[in-house]
Amino acid sequence: RPGTERREIDKLVAQFQLQGLQVGITNGVDCTILGLVGDTTAVDINKISTNKQVERVMRVSEPYKKANRKYHPDDTVVDIAPGVAVGGGRLLVVAGPCSVESEAQITGIAGAVKKSGALALRGGAFKPRTSPYAFQGMGYTGLELLEKARMATGLPIVTEIMNTDDVDYFAQHVDVIQVGARNMQNFELLKELGKLRKPVLIKRGMANTLQELLMSAEYVMAGGNDQVILCERGIRTFETATRNTMDLSVIPVLHQLTHLPVVVDPSHATGRWELVAPMALGATACGADGLIIEVHNDPEHALCDGPQSLRPGKFSDMMEKIRAIRPYSDHSFTTGRVVV
Ligand code: PEP
Ligand code: MN
Repeated sequence: RPGTERREIDKLVAQFQLQGLQVGITNGVDCTILGLVGDTTAVDINKISTNKQVERVMRVSEPYKKANRKYHPDDTVVDIAPGVAVGGGRLLVVAGPCSVESEAQITGIAGAVKKSGALALRGGAFKPRTSPYAFQGMGYTGLELLEKARMATGLPIVTEIMNTDDVDYFAQHVDVIQVGARNMQNFELLKELGKLRKPVLIKRGMANTLQELLMSAEYVMAGGNDQVILCERGIRTFETATRNTMDLSVIPVLHQLTHLPVVVDPSHATGRWELVAPMALGATACGADGLIIEVHNDPEHALCDGPQSLRPGKFSDMMEKIRAIRPYSDHSFTTGRVVV
């Protein structure tokens, strides 16, 4: 603030230097500006703001470092299984039902989506349902059925974790651990996942900013696990025509901000099966590194998210169109993504 005494300024400078920061000092006519140089990720802006000599604190660099493209210009490629990776120009298509319902259901859908070119299988066993009376998922039995489907098809499995106590189990049995939108800011869960060396797919919370999503990725990466995949699945807005609102501009924006792969889930983003293919194509054209698509053989009787699920035939039609945008070769889609 104007009129702050020299010794107060010196005290502040010394305090920042003690934190290992260099301090550039600009003496103006009324105010003094202190520029902090170094790793400011651990600097607490609120703590500095409470100092009565300080008028304003501004961050000029992002609070995330490991996820930041500035310090890691090359795209991160996350290996999921032999021959299956995401990021750096590959397109990972994950498909499968919202929830695992039976062995016949999950292995049948796995076989069908594999035939159409999906590279990984999704399916929830632990489901975060809004109502406690809704189907909660098959739990560990569901995970066992996913493993059977993997055995039958060779597709790696992507499934959601809800409980921190399950981290070790998931680490042993699952190929990609999904953190759902509702758990994006479950920091204890993120910290535990940071201890693994296993791909973690983090879905954007329904009312979270991209910076908050990147800070969640930073939690996992700060623990030493840099195999993080980001997922846009739509956010809450005033619009009611779709389940959520899907903003395709997040794809190039995230590609500017981070080196992590960005996948898009048009099923949860729209909530309506007939909107899934158009948005999947849009996301692919915008440079998404992957897609997560809900597919069900009998959407009318699905235990969860039937209205947004594609039948295998429609999924196959969608994949044909995707191939026209990003040529498909062998086990991966390999054209470079749109670079902004
Ligand atoms: C899901 O992918 O099954 C799911 C529950 O999605 P979200 O966390 O994005 O709502
Ligand atoms: Mn779902």
